Amino acid sequence: MGIPGCCYNCWLLDFIRTIVSDDLTAGRNGGRVATRFPPEPNGYLHIGHAKAICLNFGIARDFGGTCNLRFDDTNPVKEDVEYVESIEEDVRWLGFEWTALHFASDYFEELYGYAVHLIREGKAYVDSQAADELRRNRGTLTEPGVESPFRNRTVAENLDLFARMRAGEFADGAHVLRARIDMASGNINMRDPVLYRIRRAHHHRTGDAWCIYPMYDFAHPPSDAIEHITHSLCTLEYEDHRPLYDWLVDALPVPSKPRQIEFARLNLSYTVMSKRRLLELVQEGHVAGWDDPRMPTIVGMRRRGYTPEAIRAFCDRIGVAKRENVVDVAQLEHAVREDLNKRAPRVMGVLRPLRVILENYPEAQVEHLDVINNPEDAEAGTRKVPFSRELFIERDDFQENPPKKFFRLAPGREVRLRCGYFITCTGVEKDPATGEVVALRCTYDPATRGGDAPDGRKVKATLHWVSAAHAVTAEVRLYDRLFNVEEPGKVEDYRAALNPASLEVVRDARVEPVAAAAPAATRFQFERLGYFCVDPDSRPDAPVFNRTVSLKDAWARIQKTDG
Ligand code: ATP
Ligand code: MG
Repeated sequence: MGIPGCCYNCWLLDFIRTIVSDDLTAGRNGGRVATRFPPEPNGYLHIGHAKAICLNFGIARDFGGTCNLRFDDTNPVKEDVEYVESIEEDVRWLGFEWTALHFASDYFEELYGYAVHLIREGKAYVDSQAADELRRNRGTLTEPGVESPFRNRTVAENLDLFARMRAGEFADGAHVLRARIDMASGNINMRDPVLYRIRRAHHHRTGDAWCIYPMYDFAHPPSDAIEHITHSLCTLEYEDHRPLYDWLVDALPVPSKPRQIEFARLNLSYTVMSKRRLLELVQEGHVAGWDDPRMPTIVGMRRRGYTPEAIRAFCDRIGVAKRENVVDVAQLEHAVREDLNKRAPRVMGVLRPLRVILENYPEAQVEHLDVINNPEDAEAGTRKVPFSRELFIERDDFQENPPKKFFRLAPGREVRLRCGYFITCTGVEKDPATGEVVALRCTYDPATRGGDAPDGRKVKATLHWVSAAHAVTAEVRLYDRLFNVEEPGKVEDYRAALNPASLEVVRDARVEPVAAAAPAATRFQFERLGYFCVDPDSRPDAPVFNRTVSLKDAWARIQKTDG
C-alpha cells in the first residue's frame, strides 16, 4: 500500500499511522489529517519531546496533512517566554515548520464561553468546598467519591458565581468550576473533574486579564477542536483521561470532533527526562545550564554536536508503540555516529601531547602534506597539514615497556604517522625529578612520505599527530553519561546516581590549525578519538571542543552479540 507523500516503508506503518491511513481510506475527517505538538512552556524540550515532534510533524508530512505548534499555556505560575522562544527554536532546529502557531491562552475567551455552555446545560457547577475537602471527597481507586453539597446549585446561581469568579470577587481557592459527570465512576478523572480554578497570577501573554484559569484537561479538547485537529496524539498517562476528552468533545458545541490517541513516552537509559528534575539539575548546579552538553535537552544535544538528522533517524528507528520501555542510550549515540561518519571532516588533534623530535629531519623545514578530509565523502576533498621536525603524538600511543598486545610506539619500534612518514623511536627523554617521559627521540624514513614504504615493509600501527610549531592549544571537554545507573529515575534520590566523572576538561590538547579556526558548532572527527564540535565558548586563539561521542560503538557491539 502506498500513501501519497509518504517517504519510507509504507508497508511497515506504526499503529498510529495505521489508524490515520485507515481514517483516510474510510474518508473520515473529510480526507484531512491535522496534528499538533502541544508543549507547556515550562521548560526546555528534551529528547522525549523530539519523539513527539517527529511523530506529529512526521505524520503531517507523510500524509500530506498539517501540524500546528500549540503552546499549552494554561498554568501561568510555571510558564515563561524564555521557554516559548527556546521551544520554537528547537522545533525549527529539528527540521520542522508548523502550519500555524497557537497558544491555548488565545482561546481563553472561547473556553470561558464553553464553560458557560456546560453550566447552562446543567453539566457544570461551582463548587465551594475547601481544597482538602475536594480531595477527600474524590474517593479512591476502590471507593466511590462523595457528591458535593454544592452539586445541585441552580443554573442561575452557577452562572452568577462563575461570572463573579471571573470578575475577581473571590479569593484564590474559594470556588472552582467542576464538570457534573459521575462521582461514582470507576475512573477518577470522571468524578466531577475541576475545569477552572481561581488563581491570581500574571500570565506571560494575557497579563492580568484573567484571575481564573482553565485546567489542562478542560482546555485541551476544545483547543484541538477549534484548530480542527483530527488526531490528537499524547503519551500513555493520558489514556485514563480519554473518557473525559470524549465527554467534553461531545458536550461542547465545538466545530470539529478530534480523536485522542496515546503512545508510550520515550525513556532513555542513564537519563532523567522529567522537566521537574531537569530544572532541578540546572537550579542546583549539577550541570552548567539547560544547554549543558550532558543534558538530554535539545539545546544540550545541539551544543554537544548532535545533528538534527541523527535525532530524527533515532526517533524513526525507535518507532511508536503502546508499551512503555527503556531505550538504550547507546542506540542514540549510534545514530549520532552514523550521521557524523558521513559528514564530519577528519582532522588531527592530540588530547595529551607527547613531544616527538625527528632527529634526521631538517631543522627549518616545513612540509604541507595532503590529507583526505573524509574517506566517506569524495566531495570533501583534501587539505594541507603542516609537518615539521617537532611533533606531538598522543601520550597513550607510547609505552616504554610495552605489554604483549601493545603495537604502537615503543623504543626501537617503527610506526606510521597518518599521511606522513614512518618513524622509529630511538630514545626517550625523562624528567630527572619524576622519571616521567617528556619527549621521544625518533628518526623518520624520507622514502615513506604519504605513509607507505617503497620496499613494502609493514608497520603495525598508524598514529595521529600534529606539528608542534603549528598546532594550536585547545580546551577539550570530554563528556560521559550524567548518571551512573541505568534507570536513575527509579533510584530513591536520582541525585545519588549522578556520575561524578561525567565531565573531564583537558586544557592542554593540541589541534591542527584548520580545526582551531573553525566557527562554533563546526563538527569534526578527531582521528582515532571521536567526534567533536566547536563550543560557543571557543575563540580563535583559545579554541574549545566538546566531545560529541567517542568512536567506540557500544550499540553496534550489542547488535552483533544479539544477532
Ligand atoms: P509536564 O506536562 O509534566 O510539564 P511533559 O513532559 O508532558 O511534562 P509537555 O510540554 O506537556 O511536557 O509535553 C509536550 C508533548 O510532548 C506532550 O504531547 C507529551 O505527551 C510529549 N512528551 C513529553 N515527554 C515525552 C516523552 N518522554 N516521550 C514522548 N513524548 C513526550
Ligand atoms: Mg504535559
